Amino acid sequence: MNAAPAPPETSRCVVALDVGGTSMKGALVDEHRRVRLRQSFPTPAVQGPEAVLDQMATAIATLTARAAEAGLAPPQAAGVVVPGIVDEARGVAVIAANIGWRDAPLASVLRERLGLPVALGHDVRAGGLAESRLGAAKGARDVLFVALGTGIAASCIVDGRPLIAGGYAGEVGHVVVEPDGEPCGCGGRGCLERVASAAAIARRYTSRSGVAVTGAAEVAAKVRAGDPVAVAVWEEAVAALVDVLHTSLTLLGSEVVVLGGGLAEAGDLLLEPLRTGLDERLSFQRRPRLVQAALGDQAGCLGAALLAWSLVDALEEPSDEEASSDDQGGHDRKHDEFEGYERKATP
Ligand SMILES: [Zn+2]
Repeated sequence: MNAAPAPPETSRCVVALDVGGTSMKGALVDEHRRVRLRQSFPTPAVQGPEAVLDQMATAIATLTARAAEAGLAPPQAAGVVVPGIVDEARGVAVIAANIGWRDAPLASVLRERLGLPVALGHDVRAGGLAESRLGAAKGARDVLFVALGTGIAASCIVDGRPLIAGGYAGEVGHVVVEPDGEPCGCGGRGCLERVASAAAIARRYTSRSGVAVTGAAEVAAKVRAGDPVAVAVWEEAVAALVDVLHTSLTLLGSEVVVLGGGLAEAGDLLLEPLRTGLDERLSFQRRPRLVQAALGDQAGCLGAALLAWSLVDALEEPSDEEASSDDQGGHDRKHDEFEGYERKATP
């Protein structure tokens, strides 16, 4: 496919795959960043990391084979995002505790198996990229995206560029907010995600009230109903988030804070006290807009597509970096959307 003449502009596409602990969200995304076809696959995490990798290859091959039915040319690249610590420049999953990868060179393995250029990214960082390019922070260059789910992680975009730092940037969930607090899976104690993640809010409510809940949404409903235990748990979470956001904003100077993940679905019950708390704390710092994520659980998959398109652009415009590819279609496309992203030189 690489040597073929360029397909019509409208029919170019990439494969996007967001690998989660229980399922993988896949899509074919055209060059206008529109999702043209979606398909999910189970993640066989219990069968071990090799089985998950096999399933990823199967998912990408399946989506590739379905391009024609969506009126698309064969995909030009795949973007794959995974949880954990991800070194995007090397295409390596450094640590993914819930899947079991350690220093797994996923991009090169998939590229060899599939004969397709593969960009590897981090799920939350990719989600933040998607929110900043296509979603709630569209148009902003300094964005802090915080995913509040089972855990907490952030994507920091500064001057239009995601901070990566070998995969270690953005782990705000492990900032300590209660020095003598409960132990965390990271080995620390009193981390933000032990206080303010969706999972933590449900757990803390149950441990104090003795009442089992299905999740943070149920605690949110109890906050609205005035349940004092729920209100206390909620206020502690908000205070911890204000602390960490205040520090993060002082460091990063973000102009927009986007809150995503399950907890953000509480909407103004969460956003309003965070806005008030930040307003009281910030002084000279830039005052950010604090908004709810717009792309929901599709952010990671769209972010994976953005990484794939960025790779396509880099391959089509070889520079002296790592563009030693066989995939040069000779296109002369505009890609202002990706200005400043790490795989490209700034025009
Ligand atoms: Zn921790």
